[in-house]
Formats: sequence, C-alpha cells, structure tokens
Amino acid sequence: MKEKIYAFFEDAFGDHQPIKIRFFNMAVFGGFIFSALATLANIISQTGIAGLVVCLICTFGILTVYPLSRAFKNHIEIFIAFILIAMNFIIFPALFFTVGGIESGMPLYFIVGIVFTILLVDKLFIAIGLSFLEVLFFSFIMFMDKIHPEIADRFCVMGDTVYLDTSLDLAVVSFCIAVLVKALAMCFERQQAKTDKLLAQMEELAVKDPLTGAYNRRFLMKYLESGIVNAKENGKSVAIVMFDIDKFKRINDDYGHLIGDEVIKALAATLMKSCRDYDIVSRYGGEEFVLVMPGATEEIAIVRAEAIRMAFSELKIAEAIDRPVTISGGVAELKPIIKAPEDFIAVADNNLYTAKETGRNKIVGLTYNRSNLAQ
Ligand code: GH3
Ligand code: MG
Ligand code: MG
Repeated sequence: MKEKIYAFFEDAFGDHQPIKIRFFNMAVFGGFIFSALATLANIISQTGIAGLVVCLICTFGILTVYPLSRAFKNHIEIFIAFILIAMNFIIFPALFFTVGGIESGMPLYFIVGIVFTILLVDKLFIAIGLSFLEVLFFSFIMFMDKIHPEIADRFCVMGDTVYLDTSLDLAVVSFCIAVLVKALAMCFERQQAKTDKLLAQMEELAVKDPLTGAYNRRFLMKYLESGIVNAKENGKSVAIVMFDIDKFKRINDDYGHLIGDEVIKALAATLMKSCRDYDIVSRYGGEEFVLVMPGATEEIAIVRAEAIRMAFSELKIAEAIDRPVTISGGVAELKPIIKAPEDFIAVADNNLYTAKETGRNKIVGLTYNRSNLAQ
C-alpha cells in the first residue's frame, strides 16, 4: 500500500515529469481539496440545492482529471487547454450563478482562472489571447447579471452573508494564488537543483579519472601551467614527482587486469592520502601518476616521495598478489629554464627513466639521490 502511494506520487510529481505537468497535477489535487471543502461548506451552511449540485459535479469532475490526463499524455497541451476552458467558461460561471452573484466574492475566482491560464499555457500569445477572452466573458456575465439579476437570483441564495462571503473568498483566492506561485517556484527550484547537480557531475567527469578519482592529464597540464606562472611571479618553488609502478605488465599478466586495476587504485589512494594543501594527484597515463607539490623544493619532494614509495611497498593490496609491488619516481623542481608544463614533466620523466634503468623501486631527482643510483 505504502509503495503504491509512493509510486502514485512519484508518477504525478516525480522529477521525470516536466515542470508544467507537475504543476498541473498539483493544481488538480489542490482543486479537488478546495472543491471538496466547498461542497462541505455548502452542506453545512445549506445555501441551496443548486450551489451544492454544482460543487458536487465540480468535485467529482476533478476526480477524473488526473486519470484522463494520463490517458491523454500524448496530447497533454490540448488536454490542459480543454480543462482551462472548462474551468473558466463553464465551472466558474456556473458557480457564479449558483453560489453567489456579482455581490458575492465569486468574481474573485475568475482571477484564479486567469492565473492558471497564464501559468499553464506555454505560448505567450495564446495565453494572453485566452486570458483576454476570459476577461471579456466574465465581464459579459457580470454585465448580464446586472441587467437581468433575476436569472442568477433564481438559483442564488446569498442572503445577508454577502460581506462574510466576499472576505472569505478574498482570503481563499489570495491563498490559492500564493500556493500556486509557491508550487511553481518549488518546481523550478527542484529542477535547478537537479541541473546544478548534473553540472557538478559533468565538471567532475571532465577533470577526473573515473577509475581512481585522481585528476586527469588535461587538468594536470592546466594546473601546472597556472602553477608555473604563479610560482615565478611569487618567487616560490614547485616540485613534481612522476610515479610509475614497476613491472606492471607482469602484474597484469600474472594476476589479471582486475587485480592490476586494484593496484592502480591503491597507488592513487596512497598518493591522495599524502596530499597537503594545494597538492594534486593526477593520473598521467595507465599506471603513471604525477604528484604536484606547490611550495616544495626538490629535496622536500624526494623525502615525501620516498615516504610514499615505502608506504606503498608495505601495502597488502590483494590476497592473490604474492610478491612485493613497488614503484619508482622521478622528481623535478621548477627552474627558470622551465617555461611550459611539458618541459617540467620531461625533467621528472627523465629522472623516472633513470630510476627504472638503475634497478627500480627508488626515487631519483636531478641533484639528490644521484649518489646511490647504483644500489
Ligand atoms: P616498468 O617497470 O619499466 O614500468 O615496466 P612496466 O611493465 O610497468 O611497463 P609499463 O609502465 O610500460 O607498463 C604499462 C602497462 O600498464 C601496460 C598496460 O597494459 C597497463 N595498463 C595501462 N592502463 C591500465 C589500466 O587501466 N588497468 C590495467 N590493469 N592495466 C593498465
Ligand atoms: Mg610501469
Ligand atoms: Mg608506465
């Protein structure tokens, strides 16, 4: 039962429905509640059989609107126009003649009719044209009521309560309009929140690698470009380390690509854990990562990279892996000769190559760690 109610509300007001349809459905449910309340008020106040009949017809009529709107969902524009015409040219005039003439607050309901038309008809000139017709029609009805009051008087039983009725109707109509506008605003807010979320996801997808959550190469190059300019302007140092998993092809061959992916993810996680303010981790290639450390010198970068190398080699990544998995790293510090991100990367890449050539599982910089390369 609970699921059925939830499915019903999801169907009527879910995000998959266009704003206009959600708003229309809200108005239909609101309209049903108001008609039911009006019917009850008619019964209690015993204003007359004609008014009660119209209220009842209205209440049961509205009950059919939602299922019909689902049946006509391929022609929903025409259906909504049909409902607006029925409401403005039949229901409200009928209520006007039966539950109160021009002296009562009933003409105020025509304003609700016009608000509906403006909010629910997309095409501006049709909305304005229809509203204009409605105004003409209501004016005509009220004019006729003035000239031939006996027609309405035959049904209408307002008596002495006209002032109370007018003020009550003013309150009800103002409340209706406030709720309608709020409902529409809420629909738009929800839609906006959904769009913002999607946009944030798109932005994230555009700069991040889906497997590891690290920044992608495109983002790295942009970050380095602005990092180089900033560091040069402010006389600060920047260092980068390029890491590569040792003999990774063999890991893939021996344990499969899924385990290989786990190893890549484990390296990304280790690097991210080591990040400080403004550091970024980027997946440069398959199992190559670049850690950017703004403010760090080569010496600091080597110390930090060594700590990362040690931490990674001690990780137990997967049960299946029965030998140590190690990484090598090449460090570069920004120097005046480096003008572009590509030059910066090339220095780190060169040092990484040296690390690989001289036995792997080590960190190599340009000026540091050179003494123990042969180990
Ligand atoms: P070296 O120690 O010299 O780095 O040897 P290596 O075997 O690690 O050589 P290399 O760095 O060239 O190997 C890269 C391999 O990484 C080749 C490719 O099959 C694998 N690879 C690239 N991207 C992915 C990925 O997303 N998942 C997995 N499982 N493997 C990948
Ligand atoms: Mg490798
Ligand atoms: Mg590689």
